[in-house]
Amino acid sequence: MEKKLGNPKQTIETIQKHGFMFQKKFGQNFLIDPHVLEKIINAAGVTKEDCVLEIGPGIGTLTQYLAETAGRVVAVEIDRNLIPILEETLEGLDNVTVINADIMKTDIRQIAETYHGGKPLKVVANLPYYITTPIVMGLLEGDAPVDTITVMVQKEVAERMMVGPGSKDYGALSLAVQYYAEPEIVANVPPNCFIPRPNVGSAVIRLTRHAEPPVQVKHPKLMFQLIRASFNQRRKTLQNSLGNAPELSFSKEQISYALEKLGLPAAVRGEALTLPQFAALSDLLEESGDF
Ligand code: SAM
Repeated sequence: MEKKLGNPKQTIETIQKHGFMFQKKFGQNFLIDPHVLEKIINAAGVTKEDCVLEIGPGIGTLTQYLAETAGRVVAVEIDRNLIPILEETLEGLDNVTVINADIMKTDIRQIAETYHGGKPLKVVANLPYYITTPIVMGLLEGDAPVDTITVMVQKEVAERMMVGPGSKDYGALSLAVQYYAEPEIVANVPPNCFIPRPNVGSAVIRLTRHAEPPVQVKHPKLMFQLIRASFNQRRKTLQNSLGNAPELSFSKEQISYALEKLGLPAAVRGEALTLPQFAALSDLLEESGDF
């Protein structure tokens, strides 16, 4: 391996040596703080039994740390200008495979098959912030085996994943994350831990996939349609937001009947409902027959 990255000096030297230009469109903010890197590694709980999927290795900083603790690391990087740099910074680390691809177009199930005999992967990454939500939702909803996701995200997004009703941050992302996984913020990370410095604070969040979802619902797809429709128009009452949603075909009467059965006020908004209440609403509306 070339020199250990994860500090400002080595990072700047590596970037300058290769004449690398940061691409804003790829959300490139490279980690330069060894304490933060160690926190991510510890929180991820990676062992030599694990195969880690790293999304966006950049110049290979976190990858070097992961290579020490994991059995295997598969790192998917979109920016082809980083590939020659990675070849150098990861040289000699024979448990690391770098794939030059867009993670949104990558078959993660296939990665698990090829590199881990189909067993669950651990995802560890300092995510590009412009696509955090689609990446995390794709991992949770997709068919690839993934048991934990330990990622650096915008602080505000980490908080949205954690909160329940009563917070302005509560929304479709909170409910979806909590349906699939147990979220825990393991570190808050200030902008000066990155080059270039992002404009926002960051946090490391660990999502541990539930063995069983915390609520039983007959049609999770319908429940998520209801959740999305409720928060698309979050200031409206559920009767209006669900009644007007083009992708749903429930009448206002059906919705008000279901709310009454749940003991909820007729003018309740979606932002007041817990995950179990959305599950119960979904089952009641499903029974009413128009699904
Ligand atoms: N892991 C490095 C670190 O911590 O220093 C870099 C993290 S940087 C926040 C995000 C990385 O994701 C960049 O290297 C960027 O090029 C890469 N990236 C952005 N969009 C991507 C995509 N769609 N698929 C794969 N990698 C992507």
